[in-house]
Amino acid sequence: MTQETQALHSGYDKAAFGTMAVPLYQTTAYDFGSLETAANRFALRELGPIYTRLNNPTTEILESRMAALEGGSAALATASGQSAIFYAIANLAKAGDNILVAKKIYGGATTLLTHTFKQFGVTAKLFDSDKAEDLEGLIDASTKAIFFESLSNPHISISEFDTIVQVAQKHGIVTVCDNTVATPILCQPLSLGVDVVVHSASKYINGQGTAIGGIITERKGLNDLLIDNPRYPQFNEPDESYHGLVYAQLPFPLFTLRARLSLIRDIGAAISPFNSWLLIQGLETLFVRIKAHSESALKVAQYLHEHPSVTLVGYPGLHSDAHHAKLNRYFKFPHASGLIHVELESEELAKRLVNETKIFSVVVNIGDSKSLITHPASTTHQQVSATELEASGVNNRVVRLSIGLENTDDLINDIASVLG
Ligand SMILES: *Cc1c(COP(=O)(O)O)cnc(C)c1O
Repeated sequence: MTQETQALHSGYDKAAFGTMAVPLYQTTAYDFGSLETAANRFALRELGPIYTRLNNPTTEILESRMAALEGGSAALATASGQSAIFYAIANLAKAGDNILVAKKIYGGATTLLTHTFKQFGVTAKLFDSDKAEDLEGLIDASTKAIFFESLSNPHISISEFDTIVQVAQKHGIVTVCDNTVATPILCQPLSLGVDVVVHSASKYINGQGTAIGGIITERKGLNDLLIDNPRYPQFNEPDESYHGLVYAQLPFPLFTLRARLSLIRDIGAAISPFNSWLLIQGLETLFVRIKAHSESALKVAQYLHEHPSVTLVGYPGLHSDAHHAKLNRYFKFPHASGLIHVELESEELAKRLVNETKIFSVVVNIGDSKSLITHPASTTHQQVSATELEASGVNNRVVRLSIGLENTDDLINDIASVLG
């Protein structure tokens, strides 16, 4: 089945439910009917709903639809993109371990992975995912994860998948790719050899800026990398917190299973069923939206590229862009999403563009059907140090546009009213 069809049907058995729209199970708990069923579900002898922190029928439809779209074996929805990243890394690394993190990533992911994880004894070493030539030299016996973004936000660059995957496979290390901006419609990291994909579903998947959510998807066959791998004893040794359960002995996709049974169980950033339901509505139109966002953004990027007050446009859809060859190589279509990185000739002009455009809203979000504009240095990247800022490709003259679904000429005229 192709993705257009999967986005509308996967994971939902209409015959069983009898409704066209996916039903919303707004419930906290489930009636087991008997003590035996309850005991079997807790002991994993039978899989079924236990409590909405662990699973929910509406959320399960979102999870299996996302697993289908990414070409993975299983998925786990979480309360936010940040919690998806947290669980994916906490599933791999413990105190004393280190993780390799791409320099150019979302500001919230940078602070989480380099500062908050440090408080738990997990240290981050930064690498350049554009070329990844420095990656292998950073690996040691305690390296547990390689984290990068497919299409990185806010400096719009594309990671060097082949090198990252080859190095990771050579050393038996799990790769985690944030696919929020590209979405599985434009890029399927699992088909490029990545092990785990994370998403902020709050962005393009939702599409209308109405709900926060996150998703972790694992590739088919990931169990083979985890089982008997000395880097990951947590999957191979008895889990004291689960009466000595050994994950490696279970016949399920283990990465998301452990994140669910151990991490969501204890830390609890579970998604609301209502948000899962909203995200399912978003998925139904993701395919047409992401193409429309990309086609419009390309025209806006072309206009900006030719404007004398613009010193740099980061948009891999442009033939002149440094990442255009990687777009053709790693993406399914020559589309690059609605995000454009624009560097103006002065900080003053950058701030005027943010304040004086009329259709663009000053919002620190992306992927909305309405066009958005931000000044990352004052907002999303404000808590990031000057060196990290430089490394992530942001400076005071940069604005980031998220091109919505309005008429493209209206958007260009709005920008032209400020830039002249
Ligand atoms: C927004 C975003 C996140 C964080 O997701 P939330 O849903 O806001 O928690 C992570 N990665 C990327 C690339 C993002 O754009």
